[in-house]
Amino acid sequence: MDIQWNGLRTLVLGTGKSGLAAAELLRSKGAAVLVADQAPEEARAFEKKALEQMGAACLFGSFPDPVDLQMDLVVISPGIPRDNPVVHRAERAGIPVWGELELAGRFIRGPLVAITGTNGKTTTTAWICHILEQAGRKAVLGGNIGVPLTAMTGRFSGDSVGVVEVSSYQLETVDSFHPAVAVITNLTPDHMERHKTMENYLEVKARIFARQGPEDTVVLNADDSWLAGLTGQIPGRLLQFSVKRTVKGACLADGQLFLTDGDRPVMLVEASRLLLPGSHNIQNALAAVCAVRALGLGPEEIRPGLLSFSGVEHRLEPVATVEGVRYINDSKATNPESVLMALESFREPLILILGGSPKQTSYRELAQEVARRGIPVVVSGQTRDEIVEALEEAGARDVHPAENFRRAVDQARALARPGDVILLSPACASFDEFRNFEHRGSVFKEIVNDYHQEEEKAGTGTPGENR
Ligand code: ADP
Repeated sequence: MDIQWNGLRTLVLGTGKSGLAAAELLRSKGAAVLVADQAPEEARAFEKKALEQMGAACLFGSFPDPVDLQMDLVVISPGIPRDNPVVHRAERAGIPVWGELELAGRFIRGPLVAITGTNGKTTTTAWICHILEQAGRKAVLGGNIGVPLTAMTGRFSGDSVGVVEVSSYQLETVDSFHPAVAVITNLTPDHMERHKTMENYLEVKARIFARQGPEDTVVLNADDSWLAGLTGQIPGRLLQFSVKRTVKGACLADGQLFLTDGDRPVMLVEASRLLLPGSHNIQNALAAVCAVRALGLGPEEIRPGLLSFSGVEHRLEPVATVEGVRYINDSKATNPESVLMALESFREPLILILGGSPKQTSYRELAQEVARRGIPVVVSGQTRDEIVEALEEAGARDVHPAENFRRAVDQARALARPGDVILLSPACASFDEFRNFEHRGSVFKEIVNDYHQEEEKAGTGTPGENR
């Protein structure tokens, strides 16, 4: 669709980061923009001011009818489900309904690498960007990872690559969006409250490559049984990664990472030299290798960034060692699969902090693993009773319910002995006590820093052991 933006009548739903960026982009192209939010005006004073400054109209308390207002285009924020009545009404009347990716995709000229999947998106996205930069390529990082793609369009020059993390919510509203490289890290039940079945979830994820052509590449995890179902649908080139067997792309064998897209395997690095712990991070590394390979990087260009990447905040992030106990912030682990991965990443005795706000998920497998390994667990948050029940059913003995998050961290400290690791890896969302997982992770770090200061005052710390 060739679009005359000037004067186009657009309705943007939602005044979050995504909605504001969409409004700004549309205004910069000369479109007439009305931004609506169901929240009351008092709760959105900052956003209202920002919208007025950019010359957009705004409406609070409800969504207006796009048909009555004769809108040409509706842009929806990732938090708004596709089955919202206003969205239905627009679609029935033939008004295009786009998400952030579809809108931004119209203004980006350079190649895009888009990364989706249940877990490992942010790490893989940041790792790809890091490898590109270390190899001297210009990369623009964004999407779900912080800056919405709509806010990034101005940062592209002809020779830059956009590396974007894409959630399944965002994929619900794409049409012409077609990244040069599409990566799906893995697929396990998450966000089921929105997608209902795994088949739906898979179908949404597959939209990341639906509009690709024969010159484009899809990168898939060959060890993931759900993703195996997609290999027959790839429009262009397929690269896969595996930690179990040799596939065309990248794999792990004898503790080494190999590039395996050519006639013979090329050794890249020893897995033990990667700075990030855990086998899941080997998978993320292999996914990143495939993606940058698809952009034409050779082994010599890939190695430096593979070896020097040190991770992203709130993902198995070392906070400090206090009283001989190491504290790890994995606040981003908001589902049980991530926690299982985290548990595998440590050889030291662990104390695990779980709980938060609910997602429709089962804690059974996690509880069984915790019980099997006899890991002491402290649990707080809205999901506390459900998790405690799952742990008890699984036969876990060392379970400590706590009144709130702060108390949970204090209890974990009281349980720990020198040499232990206290791992915040909650398996739940954070909205019961916090704004988001970043906020929860930061509060955790503040608490640990308080402990550290107490220790310093008491003069019992070991110099140089904190980082
Ligand atoms: P996402 O952006 O998909 O949520 P992140 O890279 O932010 O993923 O990692 C979130 C958490 O998920 C990490 O703290 C880690 O415990 C876990 N994780 C990371 N990579 C993987 C992976 N490849 N498979 C399973 N779990 C992973």
